[in-house]
Amino acid sequence: MGPTSLADPLSASDPSDDGAASAALVTTSQKVITTAIVAGPALALALVVWLLWGSVINLTDVVIGVILYVATGFGITVGFHRLFTHRGFVPNRALKITLAVLGSMAVEGSVTSWVATHRRHHMFSDQAGDPHSPHRYGSGGMAITRGLFFSHVGWLFVSDNSSAERYAPDMLKDRDLVLIGKLFPLLALASLAIPFAIGYAISGSWVGALMALVWAGLVRMALLHHVTWSINSLCHTFGRQSDGSTDQSTNLWPLAVVSFGENWHNIHHAHPTWARHGARRGMVDPSAWLIGRFERFGWATRVRWPVPSADLAGTES
Ligand SMILES: [Zn+2]
Ligand SMILES: [Zn+2]
Repeated sequence: MGPTSLADPLSASDPSDDGAASAALVTTSQKVITTAIVAGPALALALVVWLLWGSVINLTDVVIGVILYVATGFGITVGFHRLFTHRGFVPNRALKITLAVLGSMAVEGSVTSWVATHRRHHMFSDQAGDPHSPHRYGSGGMAITRGLFFSHVGWLFVSDNSSAERYAPDMLKDRDLVLIGKLFPLLALASLAIPFAIGYAISGSWVGALMALVWAGLVRMALLHHVTWSINSLCHTFGRQSDGSTDQSTNLWPLAVVSFGENWHNIHHAHPTWARHGARRGMVDPSAWLIGRFERFGWATRVRWPVPSADLAGTES
């Protein structure tokens, strides 16, 4: 049963993209364009921070922003993704609720809708039915450029909902998660209200509160959004393929730290339930590290750690 609402059919995959050692999926000019799109806003932000440092941004805003980025980021990677979507471990109730709340505060949709969309992505990965494949328009130069934009943000503007009844019926049976889903608008608001309140408490002024709202609320949220979307776009286009997945997912090492290990996306597509995506030696995977801590504390059990296998015997940078 395929989905029905793709406007453009996917082109047939290139038979030369067989998942062997590396993926040269796009031309150099496209890489330059994409790098500009990805790095441009970050460089502009760095420039703004440098110019405004001490006037309308200060260390307090940055510290609050980093804390909230880490908390909501792990809510997405450990909670929404590795736990709720793929059931990579079994949490106790308090951990389950905490991760669902923190992930909701990343404002990437309610936990149920996020899980339904992502399960559909795995089910149809880079084929017709994938809600955000960069390969939906084909493998030519302009087609990939267009596809990258679509997979990054364009898909968010298309009416193509993934049915929770079909893709996430287990989520609908969990009363805690249903309630947290209903509270999503409030949690989204809290994600901005919290830095605003902390900014006011620390600075004692409305200006201080507003600046914390902008930097630790809005900018922090935008950065995490782009990192998450980069997994959908860049990690299905650039990087290396070597782990036996049947799609065009890649491992893209520069995103390891900011994405908390979600960048080892080719390994993830080959072994979706593994709690560790960076399964090779030297692969940084902060989310797997955190799940390991949860296991040690007894908050997470039945963790699905990678099993040694021939296809992960090599090393890869
Ligand atoms: Zn993917
Ligand atoms: Zn996944």
